[in-house]
Amino acid sequence: MTTSLGGSEMARTIRADVTARAAVLTQRGITPTLAVVTATDDESTAWYVRSIAGSASRTGIHCDTVALSPDAPTDTIHAALVELSNNPGVHGIILQTPLPDGTDLSVLRDAIAPEKDVDGANPVSLGRLMAGQPAFAPATAQAVIDLVEYHDIELKGRTAAVVGRSLVVGTPVAHMLVQRNATVTVCHRHTPDLAGTTRHADIVVVAVGVPGLISQEHIAQGSTVIDVGTTATDDGRLLGDVDADALIGHAGGLTPVPGGVGPVTTALLLANTVTAAERANIQDQFLTAKLIDSPVPA
Ligand code: NAP
Repeated sequence: MTTSLGGSEMARTIRADVTARAAVLTQRGITPTLAVVTATDDESTAWYVRSIAGSASRTGIHCDTVALSPDAPTDTIHAALVELSNNPGVHGIILQTPLPDGTDLSVLRDAIAPEKDVDGANPVSLGRLMAGQPAFAPATAQAVIDLVEYHDIELKGRTAAVVGRSLVVGTPVAHMLVQRNATVTVCHRHTPDLAGTTRHADIVVVAVGVPGLISQEHIAQGSTVIDVGTTATDDGRLLGDVDADALIGHAGGLTPVPGGVGPVTTALLLANTVTAAERANIQDQFLTAKLIDSPVPA
């Protein structure tokens, strides 16, 4: 039997917690605010950003979409990120991909203030995460780990294969699995025998963007499969990287697409935004207290 490792119930629990914490901040006169920067006319990105904004408003978070032109140069996107990083009314910043061809993404990631980097894009956040220090992890990577733990799947002492090595999903997931004492193999385009490699893993995380790439021959009987892939079709469907029909009755557990990693990712972005707003509020209180305690200059 294959267990469906859904994320909707977990996402609801996270959102309920976010709603309660956002209400406390609002009572104190602080509106937790998330800014999403886009520079594309891609319809699936627009759909995703609308869904974040909708979830945000239902939990008491204000979401500002900064929609730049699809041909905006790196300088323009950089300036927007610097302005948001310096704006005390903004607590969380997401830079949404895809970006215009030729954009220097590394310069842009650097421009997001680490304390507002709710999707763990800045190398400072990634470095701290990998050093085991407190940091916002990329929300999708965190969603994979949280979903596995939510469904009581043991990681310690297990073997895992991660297919995909992007900085937003594959690489941080692999590190987070190692930090939880799994033994991890990272696969990518140049992996010579993908099926032979993934077939040895107890847990397979797939974050590629190629629908149906992973089929029964890639998965050992009873293994856990986490499908991060989301490819939008012209007729409005969302496809994962796993041939789910082929794995039903073969895998031990499988995340659905949609309804698996996606809703948890969105909920974690909101949770990180509230955390960032709470931290900013504590810092403001601390600074105010220091000013009050300081002797008045003669
Ligand atoms: P990405 O930056 O394009 O990275 C894709 C990775 O897959 C690369 O490391 C690439 O290898 C590897 N790859 C491509 N073809 C392969 C093949 N045939 N065999 C093995 N590896 C292959 O993509 P991403 O941003 O990580 O996103 C991956 C997927 O997750 C996409 O479908 C995206 O839409 C989805 N996603 C979902 C969420 C969510 O919340 N559910 C969030 C983020 C992303 P190389 O490094 O060798 O090129």
